[in-house]
Amino acid sequence: MTSSDLYPVSRLAAVQEATAKAGLDALLLTPGPDLRYVSGYDAKPLERLTCLVVPASGEAYMMVPRLELPAAQASPASRLGLEFVAWDETDDPYAIAAARLGKVAGKVGLADRMWAMSSLRFREALPEAEQVLAGSVLRELRMRKSPAETAALREAGQAIDSVHRQVPGLLRAGRTEREVAKDIAEAILASGHATVDFVIVASGPNGASPHHDVSDRVIQAGEPVVVDIGGQLHNGYCSDSTRTYSVGEPPAEFAAYYEVLRQAQDAACAAVRPGVSCESIDAAARDIIAGAGYGEYFVHRTGHGIGIETHEEPYIVSGNGEPLEPGFAFSVEPGIYLPGRHGARIEDIVVCTESGGERMNDTPRELVIV
Ligand code: ZN
Ligand code: ZN
Ligand code: ZN
Repeated sequence: MTSSDLYPVSRLAAVQEATAKAGLDALLLTPGPDLRYVSGYDAKPLERLTCLVVPASGEAYMMVPRLELPAAQASPASRLGLEFVAWDETDDPYAIAAARLGKVAGKVGLADRMWAMSSLRFREALPEAEQVLAGSVLRELRMRKSPAETAALREAGQAIDSVHRQVPGLLRAGRTEREVAKDIAEAILASGHATVDFVIVASGPNGASPHHDVSDRVIQAGEPVVVDIGGQLHNGYCSDSTRTYSVGEPPAEFAAYYEVLRQAQDAACAAVRPGVSCESIDAAARDIIAGAGYGEYFVHRTGHGIGIETHEEPYIVSGNGEPLEPGFAFSVEPGIYLPGRHGARIEDIVVCTESGGERMNDTPRELVIV
């Protein structure tokens, strides 16, 4: 898989068309996932302005600090055949961009992750222009993964699965969460990821905090441990998978609700197919957990979209009636958390296909006792 498959040159025209259709005059894309999605350029977010200007009609161009011109020219963005507008240290790049945009800029879409520093400078430079999020245009494209993007997510899933397969060998009573997490982080890099995005190792009572990070807590015998890990491949696509392990025999009450959770996660994955709403996937998991009396302990949405960001649209949450379409990729990760005691979560990335959901992760979901 080449970057031309993942970041096709034809995407720029599709983005321009979507921009025009949404009634925007231009997108202003500073470094971050929106810029990378459109151009393939993984530019560093710095205080000097780099900005891909995508007008609804006419030629796109990229503002770049002169010292970064060689890097921009060497990046996949050069395949787009666009003009690089290099600015010098004493120039005001916002004024240059504004002068080029001129009167056409009635409504501009700013990259969702543009720094406030830049968005305020653009507001000053284009005082008449209404600012909205570029995501209002790009979400429609980014949510629908191409076959190449699905393949990249599959590759990311296989890489993170290979790490989860090593976890039972790393978890032992007497080790700290931090020691285990350090080994996991090394394994994430060794598995082909470019970056380690997060490593959650939550033992015993820490497992009841869904976004516990790691601590110096020593793992005890008989404790469940929630391990939620992910990273970004060199091609930009992300992994994210949670498994809950038990170091020795877990408490009986834990084993009982773990089985409820496993069924809930399975039911939500099985419910994935085109036309089904995001919120009904959430309900498929939540109904089973609530039905077993644990509803108040499932304190977060069932999932989030994933692609070149770990969290992106669509969100699998009550109130989101958006129907699934082939190519939608998201996590299915219900959890049950008993404050002060322990908790469990099972997370797979699922891609909606014409015939149902395809899981990107396939390590065992039954409780693994190490
Ligand atoms: Zn999370
Ligand atoms: Zn996760
Ligand atoms: Zn997740």
